[in-house]
Amino acid sequence: MTDHTFDLVVLGGGSGGYAAALRAAELGSSVAIIEADLLGGTCLHRGCVPTKALLHTAEVAETVRRAGTVGVEATLGGIDAAAARAWRTKLIDGKHRGLSSLVAARGITVVTGRGVLADADGRPAVAVGEDRWIGTDVVLATGAVPRTVPGVEFGGRILDSTAALALDETPGRVVVLGGGVIGVEFASAWRTLGAEVTIVEALDGLIQNEDPSSSAALEKALRRRGIALELGARVAGATENGEGVTVSIEREEVTSHIEADYLLVAVGRSPATGELGLDTLGIDTQRGFVATDDTLRTTGAHVWAVGDIVAGPQLAHRGFRHGAFVAETIAGLSPSPLDDALFPRVTYSTPEIASVGLTEPQAIAAHGSGRVVVQEVPLSSNAKTEIVSAGSTARSGFVKVVALDGGPVIGVHLVGERVGELITEGQLAVAWEAHPADIAPLVHAHPSQSEALGEAFLALAGSPLHTM
Ligand code: NAD
Repeated sequence: MTDHTFDLVVLGGGSGGYAAALRAAELGSSVAIIEADLLGGTCLHRGCVPTKALLHTAEVAETVRRAGTVGVEATLGGIDAAAARAWRTKLIDGKHRGLSSLVAARGITVVTGRGVLADADGRPAVAVGEDRWIGTDVVLATGAVPRTVPGVEFGGRILDSTAALALDETPGRVVVLGGGVIGVEFASAWRTLGAEVTIVEALDGLIQNEDPSSSAALEKALRRRGIALELGARVAGATENGEGVTVSIEREEVTSHIEADYLLVAVGRSPATGELGLDTLGIDTQRGFVATDDTLRTTGAHVWAVGDIVAGPQLAHRGFRHGAFVAETIAGLSPSPLDDALFPRVTYSTPEIASVGLTEPQAIAAHGSGRVVVQEVPLSSNAKTEIVSAGSTARSGFVKVVALDGGPVIGVHLVGERVGELITEGQLAVAWEAHPADIAPLVHAHPSQSEALGEAFLALAGSPLHTM
């Protein structure tokens, strides 16, 4: 057995883990990352990056379809799903090389192998085979894995999101189980690429952690785009025979069946905490997630946890922040406290949904209905929106700002094409506790979609320009 000693040992090289490693190295620590697969983790190889690339392929196809509306003669010859996948692979390989170079340039040691926690005479360590990587501190950053429901097993034509991204074809008919972010993004991309799509969701609406106005607008838009929604329905089971899948759906005790080429299961992701040896270091879990205090310290001495294994929104950028936060805390700095409500959330469907802060019902629950004011501005009257969405069958969407009466902005909710890029302004407003009157005089560029946000702030400040 060989022991290797570092200031920080990070288990998992995804968004949370590599961010912790980079920041710790920048702050002068010696750092090792233990990674079973590839640096970059789910987000780079199987999540955020390839799904956004798939959605971009769909967007380009849609742009060609709509070209005639804006006077460009173009015909969509077809979709080459294998070529689209090859492009995604090349893109990911390039980003992986860039990340690996950055990690090497910071002097970080990367160990390829599956690690388990070990106790090195009172110090936390990660064992890989016969070697032990001992840290003054250890960061757990092992992420999350797709889960399924009883009666539905992954394999063959029953896909998790990783298998869905590996397809070299666009499904002709597909059932998507789960109307959360993953389900909606795949449904949106595949529909644009020509598939017949049905989303089956147990709750009464899609993306239920978003503001009800955003969920309702998304449902309407997806229906108009020809996506079938089976809401308030559960998948009771699915069988596949190599050529197709039969999906059994239950609603109010009535069972029906849908035939499809594939079933995508997107009912959430479970924290990857099994087989890590958490007990060895006295690390507690709650509902499978690693239990931490507000500074991401676990119950194990000098062991921290970041990203999707910590209960809360599973977002790559939350992982980045967690990683940097822990590295700074270990270095004795005092980073700003973490607040899950301040991470921007974007669902990259058509239309996009973006939000930050509290939804209207959350604001009312927290502050009482008498104190909450809301301003909605439709994007239909926004010139830039009309230009970029020319030929679209979806409605143009809206911006919605939630504020306290005479007080700060506490939530921003956006629906529409490309609105994900606008949410940063909402994030600054909510995080800096800006009052609408602080932002109202800051005129927004014309023509831009951000003008709709400017208009909402103007209206809340009592000086609307275009709204009534
Ligand atoms: P999710 O929790 O967002 O949605 C899962 C949905 O499945 C829920 O609406 C749930 O009600 C439904 N469901 C569960 N069991 C069901 C059943 N038996 N029958 C029918 N419906 C059922 O999970 P997800 O979409 O798998 O995403 C996993 C995580 O990854 C989320 O935290 C998500 O935010 C994150 N993610 C984020 C992005 C992004 O930020 N753009 C993209 C992809 C994934």
